[in-house]
Amino acid sequence: MTRRILITGASIAGCATAWWLAKQDCDVTIVEQAPAFRDGGQNVDVRGPAREVLRLMGLEQAVRDLNTGERGIAWVDDQNRTMARIDLSDLEGDGPTAELEILRGDLARLLYEASSPSTQYRFGERITDVVQDEKGALVRFKGGTEERFDLVIVAEGVGSKTRDMVFPGENTPRWMDLATAFFTIPRASTDSETARWYNAIGGRSAGVRPDHSGTTRAFLNIQGQRHLTTDRTVEQQKAFLKTCFEGAGWEVPRLLSGMETADDFWFDDLRQVKMKRWSADHVVLTGDAAWCVPPLGGVGASLALVGAYVLAGELAKNHSQSTAFTAYESILRPVVEKSQNIPKIVPRLTHPRSRVGITLLRAVQRVAASPAISKRATKSITPALQSFKLPRY
Ligand SMILES: Cc1cc2nc3c(=O)[nH]c(=O)nc-3n(C[C@H](O)[C@H](O)[C@H](O)COP(=O)(O)OP(=O)(O)OC[C@H]3O[C@@H](n4cnc5c(N)ncnc54)[C@H](O)[C@@H]3O)c2cc1C
Repeated sequence: MTRRILITGASIAGCATAWWLAKQDCDVTIVEQAPAFRDGGQNVDVRGPAREVLRLMGLEQAVRDLNTGERGIAWVDDQNRTMARIDLSDLEGDGPTAELEILRGDLARLLYEASSPSTQYRFGERITDVVQDEKGALVRFKGGTEERFDLVIVAEGVGSKTRDMVFPGENTPRWMDLATAFFTIPRASTDSETARWYNAIGGRSAGVRPDHSGTTRAFLNIQGQRHLTTDRTVEQQKAFLKTCFEGAGWEVPRLLSGMETADDFWFDDLRQVKMKRWSADHVVLTGDAAWCVPPLGGVGASLALVGAYVLAGELAKNHSQSTAFTAYESILRPVVEKSQNIPKIVPRLTHPRSRVGITLLRAVQRVAASPAISKRATKSITPALQSFKLPRY
């Protein structure tokens, strides 16, 4: 009998899972709370086994064609002088800049378009209740309708409400003491194919990265306690950042002025999702909703792609859903936990408060960027993901 599956969240995890499930002739519906497909977002990396997943989907070349063109990264001082630099061409494999860099919105859109012919997408919709019995789940929607599904896959990202409804109190988030803002600004003559990263005193950093659309992707980071990003409106968040980055130097005034008019502004306190289990009867979590490793880890999009492949593969292999969920979790949990093993001191070390701290950081960056070290360091950027062997289904 055809499985009737509901996925909630139309981003990387949700769209990729839909693509794989539709190949098994499942009847797949995706609900997305946004009124339309969400473009937007900055560079995400596709590494190791995730690249293989894209290859199996026939999408690797399409992702290559949309590469952001980033050739490496330079750490600069307030006069824009390069203090340390790593070029992609000097590395064996992926470094801080991965070989497959793509904008989050471009990757999500590729997956959305590839899955659209075989998936029913409903935008502006979300789940308000899930009642489970031995046969499946009865789902109530915001629009007031009710429908039965054999299985519900929650791919709603880090702040998933359906996860918190079905697994109340089970997520124990690990806050990384770092808040990050992303937004797009006009390109300037100082921008190039090399990303630039600048540290200012007070635990602040700012940077720019190239894209392929003639604009520049900017970011601002503040290390410290939580900045309660969710309790503020976008206007309040922008005002907060302007105050916070006053007098920071370098090209920060340019970034702040670009931020004023940016329509893709995103600001969040980075956190990991920590769930002791990823499924409950007929509901299963995937992507950031299950295991968010914030952008610090550089593996969020890759794990979402790998997770989609393994979840669909296990559902195809096992008639019993619960056996499939157990296998899915036992295959992925080790790589997720190792990827989440980012010491909380990392944001503190990379965001010094004092001038002396910044001088020390630059010395470390110079050593790390030297060819002998950076070649070896690339292998340890995302070791758990790089060494993960994709099961064959
Ligand atoms: C707009 C946007 C911009 C991003 N920008 C970056 C970036 O610049 N750099 C980076 O590293 N990562 C970024 N991310 C996060 C990145 O996409 C994820 O870390 C990773 O790719 C895993 O994706 P995911 O599909 O699990 O979750 P996400 O990409 O977070 O997607 C979750 C989806 O679920 C939807 N959703 C949420 N709640 C509900 C609900 N109750 N009902 C229905 N739908 C719901 C969201 O609207 C979203 O489309 C961004 C995410 C989004 C949504």
